[in-house]
Amino acid sequence: MPGFELFGQAERAQVEDVLQSGVLMRYGFDAMRNGHYKALELEGALAKKMGSKHAQVVSSGTAALTVALASAGIGAGDEVIMPTFTFVASFESILALGAIPILVDVDDTLTLHPASVEKAITRRTKVVMPVHMCGSMANLRALKDICDKHSLLLLEDACQAIGGSFEGKPLGSYGDLGCFSFDYVKTITCGEGGAVITDNEEFKKNADHYSDHGHDHIGSDRGAEAHPFMGYNYRISEMHAAVGLAQLIRLDEFLDIQKKNYTILRNALSEIPEIVFRKVPTGGEESYAFLSFFMPDQLKAENAHKALSEAGVDACFYWYHNNWHYYRKWEHLTHKKSLSKLPFDVLELLPDYTKADFSLSDQWVGRNISCLIKLGWSNDEVKKRAKTMVEVLSALV
Ligand SMILES: *Cc1c(COP(=O)(O)O)cnc(C)c1O
Repeated sequence: MPGFELFGQAERAQVEDVLQSGVLMRYGFDAMRNGHYKALELEGALAKKMGSKHAQVVSSGTAALTVALASAGIGAGDEVIMPTFTFVASFESILALGAIPILVDVDDTLTLHPASVEKAITRRTKVVMPVHMCGSMANLRALKDICDKHSLLLLEDACQAIGGSFEGKPLGSYGDLGCFSFDYVKTITCGEGGAVITDNEEFKKNADHYSDHGHDHIGSDRGAEAHPFMGYNYRISEMHAAVGLAQLIRLDEFLDIQKKNYTILRNALSEIPEIVFRKVPTGGEESYAFLSFFMPDQLKAENAHKALSEAGVDACFYWYHNNWHYYRKWEHLTHKKSLSKLPFDVLELLPDYTKADFSLSDQWVGRNISCLIKLGWSNDEVKKRAKTMVEVLSALV
């Protein structure tokens, strides 16, 4: 997955353009910038690549989630449905707006379980936010039907799945809004960055203003621009956008490598009948950023994780015990530890997750191992890795 493995001339040339003009700000300085608008260019290239009408590039994937929610008017007391298995950014972005994260079970897709989503809907629910963890997606057809039935927005967190698709549409473009991260370990990286895509013109306009202190970006005098509503600073710098642009242009190259390496590993593990692969919903095509599979039970998964690491197979994750990706380890959320008073009565409205029953999630996440697919591996390295994995896992199933 990490695009930094293949940094090269293309990234350097884009950064050089920015350094030559000296303009690190994405807006203004028109006379100085030699026609370079890297953030704007990245937005155009991303929207085109994703078949979306609009893109807003921002400072991180977390910022993208917050900006996406804000652009759709989500705020104090609104409920946003999110999975128990994701990255902490999901609830951070929701809480930042005074909205309430409603955790819901994941199933063998390792993303939202549609029937549990429907059960969690209340009169406060405004958004369903599936998170396409580890390169594969939620059953977007089922989630969209639920959203349509209950007039909810579908916001896809595609931060770990750029390049995957569902029913022929790039992930992120299927719902009303989609978010990407370009942080230091993602498939497309620029250090820190993120993006929102949408076909909704109003959401795009709101995202554009909100991510830059409410600036309406009309006219050429920044100081004289109007501020139709209050905003914040979620801007990306031109330096970051330049790296992101070079990487996005190379996305297909990265995806081909991911798929090739993934396929070698998957074919090898297919020889072990006890291993079950993560379910990809009908109509879905993974980005192949990870190879995720289930061991027969939790103990075997724990042992396999340890044994793989001891055998030198790096970058295989057992998320169940990871501090950042599974709700059981989020004691700062479950015990409502906020550094300062949150807006509105968020903490009172937040469900008591210390008592929640997420046994469906436990059943799948507890058995899961996800192995990162790297871009920089040589053919020999992948083959050797496949051989070691088969040896280690066959002995443990
Ligand atoms: C990386 C990530 C984010 C947050 O992105 P940042 O750019 O690191 O803020 C959000 N959701 C998921 C699923 C991620 O993997």
